[in-house]
Amino acid sequence: MLQIGDLVFDNRFARLPSAFFARQAPTALPEPYLIALNPDVAAVLGVDPAEAHRPRFAEYLAGNRLLPGAEPLAAVYAGHQFGVFVPQLGDGRAILLGEVLAADGERYEIQLKGAGPTPFSRNADGRAVLRSTIREYLAGEAMHGLGIATTRALAIVGSDQRIYREQIETAAVLTRIAPNHVRFGSFEFFHYRGQTERVAQLADFVIETQFPDWVELPDRHLRLLDMAVERTARMIAAWQAQGFVHGVMNTDNMSILGLTLDYGPYGFLDHFEAARVFNHTDRGGRYAYAMQAQVGLWNLHALAEALSSLLPQEQRETSLAKFEPLFLAAYGDLMRRKLGLRDTDLADADLVDRLLHAMQDGRVDYSCLLRGLGGFRAHDPATRAPLQALSQTPQAIDAWLDEYALRLASQGEDDAQRQTRMDAANPLYVLRTHLAERAIRQAADQRDYSEIERLRRLLAAPFTPQPGAEDYAAPPPATDVAVELSCSS
Ligand code: AMP
Ligand code: MG
Repeated sequence: MLQIGDLVFDNRFARLPSAFFARQAPTALPEPYLIALNPDVAAVLGVDPAEAHRPRFAEYLAGNRLLPGAEPLAAVYAGHQFGVFVPQLGDGRAILLGEVLAADGERYEIQLKGAGPTPFSRNADGRAVLRSTIREYLAGEAMHGLGIATTRALAIVGSDQRIYREQIETAAVLTRIAPNHVRFGSFEFFHYRGQTERVAQLADFVIETQFPDWVELPDRHLRLLDMAVERTARMIAAWQAQGFVHGVMNTDNMSILGLTLDYGPYGFLDHFEAARVFNHTDRGGRYAYAMQAQVGLWNLHALAEALSSLLPQEQRETSLAKFEPLFLAAYGDLMRRKLGLRDTDLADADLVDRLLHAMQDGRVDYSCLLRGLGGFRAHDPATRAPLQALSQTPQAIDAWLDEYALRLASQGEDDAQRQTRMDAANPLYVLRTHLAERAIRQAADQRDYSEIERLRRLLAAPFTPQPGAEDYAAPPPATDVAVELSCSS
């Protein structure tokens, strides 16, 4: 097990031409202290979790002391934000320290998010507030626990430095890891400047570093687009199945590797509502729950356009045409697993659809109902009551359960076996907004970070009941439901 200072760096992104980034050291944060250390990510990297107790650890992860071998930089990118092309964005507050060889045999880029201004900060301060780092830290683990591709975080370091947002808050730095942080917008930046050489260099960088077997293949760029289409379709299918709303699906927040990236005003559904928006600046509902697949495809069109110097139109279109069938198949498979259906029936999509309608009409808690369905027994009317109790229109749930009972009868499986399979597909613990808010309040108001760790543990194993955690598996109390999230972070 390593001390953080012993991590071995090999910074491949930093070896790209300087057009791709600006070299930028982090700006020191006054008197940093450790707020959270994620033992699971520490294990991935091979870092000793006992590092938490060494003052140097917080200094390294605040950016006050540079890790040996790091070559800090801010990457440049562009992006479509709410449908409008913004030609110049870039890491405005995230600083890439470099790429480390991890204990799990993989390589990860390490970024400090909130580590001070860069040439791409525009007029902003380059900082992140404690609230948003806690939300991103927990979201990465929640998604990972659900088996959804995501960036993850090693740690949060805080400081008493004041940060001005809608209120005064304090600063924090998140240590984020991912195989890379290349965005759809990274390609768009060079494409719209007519720098097609750079587009090719970036595409080949992703291929050489992530898909080395493709390097010699003449169709490698098509494979790259196909990969992005497929992974984005799978990622969004999983978001839909688990009730996740990203909130800011701008192309600068879309990972070329299909990782869930840049957690801002995201949320997990409590009651099911197709039009649910978590980002209060998104007045038009562009990034609502039910829009995400469509927006994902729109974003892939933007990526394909940015790759148009590498791929003829016909190939781009063929690749993009794969999105919808891939998305529908992935979503269908996930929902079948959640409903405990073992085989495929053409009517399953309708069955799912009618369930979602019944949930929406009755303001039914999405995760609670799906988890609860495992306990349904067609021959035992008493098992209907707890499911009906979740709904304001119990008859609609009851009618749907009749259909479900017929569908289950057609597969003729033992109920207990079905429940075991369903429990592994329907999380008990979901990163609901009110749970994250509680952890944030305790941290911000009382310097009590135990709730962050408590939630992290539950979310790391979201399918497994933990004694004493019943509250965490429940819908939010009626007083908590109307939290709106701001983009400012
Ligand atoms: P986002 O919508 O949060 O993904 O951010 C969009 C752009 O704004 C990115 O280029 C960010 O780096 C930049 N940005 C967001 N917040 C800050 C901040 N506090 N300081 C500097 N840049 C920021
Ligand atoms: Mg972003």
